[in-house]
Amino acid sequence: MEFLDRVQQEHTAMIGTLQELIAIPSVKADSTGEGAPFGRELARALDYVLAWGDQYGFTSKNRSGYAGHLEYGDGEETIGVLVHLDVVPAGEGWRYPPFSGTINAGKIYGRGAIDDKGPAVAAMYALKALKDSGVKLKKKIRIIFGCDEESGWACMNHYFKHEKKPDYGFTPDASFPLINSEKGQMALKIAGKVKGEDGGILLESFTGGTRRNVVPEQAAAVLVFPSREELDQGKAALIEAGTAGIQVQELAETNKLKVVATGVSAHGSTPEQGDNAITKLAQALTALNKQGGAWKSVDFIRDGLGRETDGQRMGIACQD
Ligand SMILES: [Zn+2]
Repeated sequence: MEFLDRVQQEHTAMIGTLQELIAIPSVKADSTGEGAPFGRELARALDYVLAWGDQYGFTSKNRSGYAGHLEYGDGEETIGVLVHLDVVPAGEGWRYPPFSGTINAGKIYGRGAIDDKGPAVAAMYALKALKDSGVKLKKKIRIIFGCDEESGWACMNHYFKHEKKPDYGFTPDASFPLINSEKGQMALKIAGKVKGEDGGILLESFTGGTRRNVVPEQAAAVLVFPSREELDQGKAALIEAGTAGIQVQELAETNKLKVVATGVSAHGSTPEQGDNAITKLAQALTALNKQGGAWKSVDFIRDGLGRETDGQRMGIACQD
């Protein structure tokens, strides 16, 4: 049988495996003990793929729930195929439940379907097709499953304390078959002290976003006005500015207004596909014309970060 026919024959099984893997909500959580450093669901996802490999006679290894591998082939050298099983939080606005793996019009919907469970399952079945075809390999092929790719890489730090690095490798991450490198990233913490008055309107809170590699789709600010009259004026100014995706709500507490911005979420590697709710909110609040105190931080978000995606304004624009 031709190799590609063999792959085709596994089509239904491969889709089923992917759906089952998507159904495990493997979002990083606190440790739930030995073997589950990123929570129960990630441990379950790792167990699932390793059990799949055991069933077909691959060598499997679970490195204390941080990461694991499936291996096939002989030889001194190893080709590493690096994939990951963790997913970022599902967020809102799904057409189908994010952990359902629903199929519609030839597409599978689910958190992780593309990044990175789809490519992981494709690699698993490719290895199975090689084995089933009886191909004799002169090198080992090892699929390495990370469980903390999206946040801290503690998975790989732990794994490579115990395992030798592969001699060759590629990373089918969020795309198949091949990504041979990944973008660098810069994680910044910006802190500062704000001095002076809030100029009449108190900025009680300003929050947004879930993870640093996800374009925030929601942000909210709570404002406290000194009087009912000023609240009415502020509310009118915000509504008149008419920024798309901004909602203004009066809170039950006296003279408090909540301003909510809704944007569009996207993966941090493709920020241009999203619409950042935090910078949108900062921009909308300009309508209040407030300076000083905590408002300086809003000015910073608006002027320093702006609506661009390459860090130009902060002088940190980089290219791959
Ligand atoms: Zn990924």
